[in-house]
Amino acid sequence: MIALYDTLTKRKAPLRPLVPGQVGIYLCGPTVYNSAHVGHARPEMTIDVLRRWLEASGLKATVVRNFTDVEDKIIKRAAELGEDPAALAARYAVEYVADMDSLDIKRPSIEPRVSETIPGIIDYIERLIAAGKAYASGGDVYFAVDSFPPYGQLSGQNVADLIAGARVDANEDKRSPADFALWKGAKAGEPSWPSPWGPGRPGWHIECSAMASQHLGPSFDIHGGGLDLVFPHHENEIAQSQALTGAGSFAQLWTHNGLIKVNGEKMAKSLGNFFLLGELVKRFDRETFRLFMLLTHYRSHINFELALGDDGKSVVGFTSLDDAEKRLDYFYTTLERLDQWAASAGVAGDDVAAPASDVLPEASDLDARMRAAMDDDLNTAQALADAGEGMKLANRLLDSGKGVAKDVRARTLARLRKDLRGVPCVLGLLTRPPRDFLDARRARLVARRGLDAAAIERRLADRDAARKSKDFKLSDDIRAELKALGVEVMDGPTGATWRVVD
Ligand SMILES: [Zn+2]
Repeated sequence: MIALYDTLTKRKAPLRPLVPGQVGIYLCGPTVYNSAHVGHARPEMTIDVLRRWLEASGLKATVVRNFTDVEDKIIKRAAELGEDPAALAARYAVEYVADMDSLDIKRPSIEPRVSETIPGIIDYIERLIAAGKAYASGGDVYFAVDSFPPYGQLSGQNVADLIAGARVDANEDKRSPADFALWKGAKAGEPSWPSPWGPGRPGWHIECSAMASQHLGPSFDIHGGGLDLVFPHHENEIAQSQALTGAGSFAQLWTHNGLIKVNGEKMAKSLGNFFLLGELVKRFDRETFRLFMLLTHYRSHINFELALGDDGKSVVGFTSLDDAEKRLDYFYTTLERLDQWAASAGVAGDDVAAPASDVLPEASDLDARMRAAMDDDLNTAQALADAGEGMKLANRLLDSGKGVAKDVRARTLARLRKDLRGVPCVLGLLTRPPRDFLDARRARLVARRGLDAAAIERRLADRDAARKSKDFKLSDDIRAELKALGVEVMDGPTGATWRVVD
C-alpha cells in the first residue's frame, strides 16, 4: 500500500482511492508569461514520478494540470512586449509543453486553461455568493474568510493574525483584510469577460477550485504543488471548495514538493541565479536532470550547485548536474558490464532471475527494498541509494567471483541485472540500451574538452596494428599519449574501446 505525507493532517497516510483502482490528481500549473525554469520542473517531476509509480502499482491515474493564462503578470509582460496577452500566454504554453516533453515528463491527462473555463468559474462564484460565502463589492467579488471557520488549517495560519498583519488600503472594497478576490473588475485596456458583476476576470485561486471540481469532481484523491503555494493559494482553494461542498471534500491528500535553491540561496530572476530548462536540456542529457531531482526526496529542498568563476558570479560549471551525469554513467556502465557478462554466460532475456533464496543475501531483497521505499512517500532517494548498492555488488562480482560459489555468483548477477532495471525504469531512469547513453555522453565530453574523436579512433587503429605486429612499445606509447589527453583505453574481448576520463 502506498502512503503519502499529507500537509493538511501533517502525517503520512495510506492512499485509499475514492474510486477503487483510480486516482485523481490535481497539480497547480504555471502562469505562462515567460520561459520555464528549473523550478518549474520540480512539481512536474514529482507528479510524473507519483503517476508512474501508481500506474506501475496497477492504478489508473488521471492528472489534471492547469495553465494560468489570464493573470496580472501576463498582462504586464504583454504590455511590455506590445503583444496581445492571449497570444503571449498561448505561445509560452506551447513552449512549456515542449520543455516538459524534453524532460520525459508525461503529459497530463487534461490541461485546462483559465481562458477556456470562464463560464465554469463564474458559475462557481455565483454559487459561493448564493451560499453566503462571498460578496460582490465595487465590481469585484471577494471570498468572506470569516464565513469559513476552518480557514488556516493547511498552513497553520490564524485569521486574527492575518488581519492584524494586513495593511488596510483606504480604497479596499473588502469587508475584512483577510478576504481575497474571486473576481476582479476590469481596468481600462485589460482583457475582460462579461459577468453578473460587470466586465472582469477571475482571481488566481478560484480557477483551481473550479477546474479541479470540473474535471475530477468535488472530491478527489491528491492535490500537488510546491511548498510555496501552501499559503495563500492552497489555503484559499480549500476554503472556496469546502465552503461549497463541505468538510472532507476536495483533495483527500495534499502533497507538497520542496523548492530548488541555487548555491543555497533562493532562486529568483532578480538574483540572476535563474536557469531556463531549454538551455540546460541542451547541455545535459534529459535523464541526468531526472536523476539529479530524484536523488533528493521530493519534500526536501534541492540545492542546485553551480561552480562560479573568480568574480563569484559567472557560472563556470553545473556541479550538481555534472555529478548526476557521472552517477548515471556509473549506472549505465554497470548495466553494460552485466549485459556483456550475460551474453558471455549465455544468459538471455531477464526471465532467468533466480528466486531470492538462491542468490547472495545482499541481492535477495533489493527489489523489495526499492519498492518499499517508493511506497513509503515516494522515497526515490532511498530507492536509488538501494540501486547504487546493487550496482556496487554487481561490479564486485563482475571484477572477481572470489569467495562466492560459481552458481550463486551467476544467479546473483542474473537477478541484479533484472532488478536494477526494475524500479529505476519505472522512475524513468536507465530505460535505454547502455551504449546509447554512454556514446552520447562520450560525445558530449569530447565536445566539452575540445577533443577530436576521429583522431582518437585513428590512434586506436594504429595501436591495434602495433599490437598485431607485436610492437608493444608503440602500443604502450599510444595508450600513454591518449591518457595524457584524458582518454582511457580499455581492452576487451571484442577489441579496444575508449572513454573520456571524468
Ligand atoms: Zn492552484
